[in-house]
Amino acid sequence: MRAVRFVGAGRPAQIADVAKPAPGPGEVLIKIGGAGVCHSDLHVMEEGLGFTGTFTLGHENAGWVAQVGAGLTGFKEGDAVAVYGPWGCGHCHACQLSMENYCENWAALGAFGGGLGLDGGMAEYMLVPFARLLVPLGDLSPAKAAPLSDAALTPYHAIKRALPQLNAESIVVVMGVGGLGHMAIQLLRALAPVRIVAADVDEKKLEQAKALGADETVNNRNSDEAEERIRTITGPRGAGLVLDCVGVQPTIDLGARLLGRNCVWMIVGLGGGHHDFHHGSTPYCCSVSIPYWGSRVELMEVIAMARGGRIHAEITEFPLEQAVEVYDKLKAGQIKGRAVLVPNGC
Ligand SMILES: [Zn+2]
Ligand SMILES: [Zn+2]
Repeated sequence: MRAVRFVGAGRPAQIADVAKPAPGPGEVLIKIGGAGVCHSDLHVMEEGLGFTGTFTLGHENAGWVAQVGAGLTGFKEGDAVAVYGPWGCGHCHACQLSMENYCENWAALGAFGGGLGLDGGMAEYMLVPFARLLVPLGDLSPAKAAPLSDAALTPYHAIKRALPQLNAESIVVVMGVGGLGHMAIQLLRALAPVRIVAADVDEKKLEQAKALGADETVNNRNSDEAEERIRTITGPRGAGLVLDCVGVQPTIDLGARLLGRNCVWMIVGLGGGHHDFHHGSTPYCCSVSIPYWGSRVELMEVIAMARGGRIHAEITEFPLEQAVEVYDKLKAGQIKGRAVLVPNGC
C-alpha cells in the first residue's frame, strides 16, 4: 500500500510502497478515511524532534475498522472511529486518567504515537495497538472527523483549563487562524461567554474567523499596530486569555504585551518563540502554560460536540499522492482550515 514516510530530519516526506499491516492479538487495523495534515509534521521533518528511524506520517486519523485482532471486543468491521493520537504506556497515573498526552513513560516508549515515531495514518491502512485508542464516530464522516483528534482536541484541552478564569467580561485573543485556530474560535463560542479577537497575518483567514464566530479580527502582520488595535478592544483590563496557536517570536512578544492581571496565557503553537519569564515579565497572577494535545476523554467530548453540530472542521481533501505538495502549501500559509489526505479516494 502507498504511504507518506518520514525519512529523516531535514528531508521532505516521501511517498513509498509499504506492506499492509496485519493486526496481532488485541490490535485493530483501520482503513483510513482521513489523515489531517498538521503543521507539527513540518517541525518533525525540519528538525527531526529526536526521531531517528523512518515511519509513516499522519497523527490526526479517522477511518473504519477493517480487521480486529484475536481477543479484541467492542469493535467490529466497518465501525467508523477516530484514532486517539498520543499513545502512552496505558498504565501510569497520567494514562489511568486518560491523559496519555502526559504519559510518564514516554522516554522509555521512544515514540509519541502513530505518525510520531510509529506508523501513522497517511496510508491506506493503519495499525492501532489497543482498542482504548479508538473513539466511535457514529455517523460523522471520518475525513471530517480526522482533524478533531488534534486540531480540535489541542485547543479544547487548553480552553478547558482556562474556563474557570473566563467570564462575560473576558476578551480572548486567538493567535493564528489555521487548523487549530479555526477550531479554537468555534470551541470558545460554544463553551464560554467571552468576546473573541482573532489575529492572523492573512485576510482570508480573518474572514473565515469572523464567519466562525470571532467578534473582532486583527491583522498582526505589523505587531505594533495589532497591539494598538487589540488594546482598544480589551481596554486597560487586557486579555483574559491569549491562546497562541502559532508560537513564533512575533506572536509570543505580542501575546506578552496583551495579557491582563489574573489572566491565562496558553501557548500551543510549536513555533519556537521564547519568553523570558520572571517577576514583572507578565501581569500579576497570570498563568503561563504550554499544554500538549489532550486526553482521550476530551477527544470523546470534542467528537460529541461535532456530532451535535456545535463545531466542525473546515477541510480540503487531497489524494495521498499529493502529500508533499500539500505540506509545501501548508508551509506557505495557503491552506485554509485543515487539509486532509484521503488515501482511499475522495
Ligand atoms: Zn498535530
Ligand atoms: Zn503512561
